[in-house]
Amino acid sequence: MFHVKQSDEGMPSLRAGETHTVTVSGTTIEGDGIARIGGQVVFIPGALEAERCEIRITHVGRRAAYAELRRILEPSAHRILPDCPYHAQCGGCALRHMDYEAELAVKKQHVLDCLRRIGGVEMEDISIYGSAEQEHYRNKVQFPVQEQDGRVAAGFFRAGTHIVTDIGSCRIQPPCADRIRGAVLAWMQKYRIRAYNEQTHTGYIRHIYIRRGAVSGQILVCIAANCRKLPKQDALVRTVLAAEPGVTTIVFTPNEARGNTVLGTEFFPLYGSGTIEDTLCGLTFRLSAPAFYQVNHAQAERLYDAALRYAGLTGRETVLDLYCGTGTITLCLARQAKQAVGVELIPQAVEDARENARRNGLANARFFCTDAGQAAQRFCAEGTQPDVIVVDPPRKGVSADVIDAIDAMRPPRVVYVSCNAATLARDVKLLTERGYRLAAAEAYDLFPRCAHVETVVLMSRKDT
Ligand code: SAH
Repeated sequence: MFHVKQSDEGMPSLRAGETHTVTVSGTTIEGDGIARIGGQVVFIPGALEAERCEIRITHVGRRAAYAELRRILEPSAHRILPDCPYHAQCGGCALRHMDYEAELAVKKQHVLDCLRRIGGVEMEDISIYGSAEQEHYRNKVQFPVQEQDGRVAAGFFRAGTHIVTDIGSCRIQPPCADRIRGAVLAWMQKYRIRAYNEQTHTGYIRHIYIRRGAVSGQILVCIAANCRKLPKQDALVRTVLAAEPGVTTIVFTPNEARGNTVLGTEFFPLYGSGTIEDTLCGLTFRLSAPAFYQVNHAQAERLYDAALRYAGLTGRETVLDLYCGTGTITLCLARQAKQAVGVELIPQAVEDARENARRNGLANARFFCTDAGQAAQRFCAEGTQPDVIVVDPPRKGVSADVIDAIDAMRPPRVVYVSCNAATLARDVKLLTERGYRLAAAEAYDLFPRCAHVETVVLMSRKDT
């Protein structure tokens, strides 16, 4: 026996440059294979569970090592050839190298692992509902624009970089997006309108944002640019409409800030009203450019059905919907409750939500434009006693003051809709410490081929 030097975590040390032959024991939601060498965890981008492969260690970190996949000796039965010519450079679809069955298994395992490791909840199994459409299922895209060797390019960032992969046609976006992208690039080329350069903070066009109502077919195009007034606006409108006559509205948003935020705070319609409409769960929704709207329509309806089922409404309830966007879930709840109150930070989304309540004749829905935590604290101080609180926060999960307010108001049921199983699990743990238990959970795949999954969870009070 010789002594192996152990790192802090009690792991033997691997060295960059070494080659090993391993059997992959699992696949992460980011599409990396996981293997263990002498107890040390190694992540191998592109390797799949059960595969035997030759790898080369590229980096040894404090908690894990990383390796490149050199050769697959025994491929997984679930391995498929990525059917997209941009796959190797584009950071968009992390799971295109496995079949959909394997993808759903990976996503299910991810949710179970997060709930167990972070949430402290041991679930034997969880149902995951896959998307019938795995191609062209998205209704929204935002292409970053960049100058490359004197040409303008628009597409997606290469994984882990800010280098744009110029994408002529995307397998998961609506086909109109390719035509609109091409038209905007042609307009830039023709009038020599510069793309934005994030290093020098010069140039104009930063993002081409497109949203298409899945049911209505209405299309909104929004151009984000580093200027107060967009040059050659009339030509832009003409060029885009010629390429895609179905476009309903074209909007300009000035974004002169440094950083990664896509849209600005002001929106100027160059053509049409600046909003589109769509139908979801039998209700009509007006959608303005900065308002959130789920990207996979069919799956969003199934997800919201589950949230509604978990809410268990009889018509007598007061329901709070925190992080409500344009009121999609709030109005579904209002149809079945005494009253529903939505809270949302983005002013345009709140205006949409109020208009949506009017359009759907739901006078029992009210909306507040403020931070969810602050609103929850205020409701609590005013003595509001909601029967159900629904939360659907962004990826970072709910804020600590939301947890505190839930704890103080003690609604019998909390329905948590989440796009990030890790922060969901963290919040499940916090609620468990405040008298709730996880009563039910389901996962819905709204993002085929991509490293994301939605989860809906019902938390019930332990004492009821
Ligand atoms: N429930 C809606 C929106 C969910 S997305 C739907 O399904 O359509 C999350 C929403 O939370 C976004 O609209 C975002 O603008 C909003 N948001 C983010 N931080 C917030 C905060 N601190 N307070 C209130 N809303 C917030």
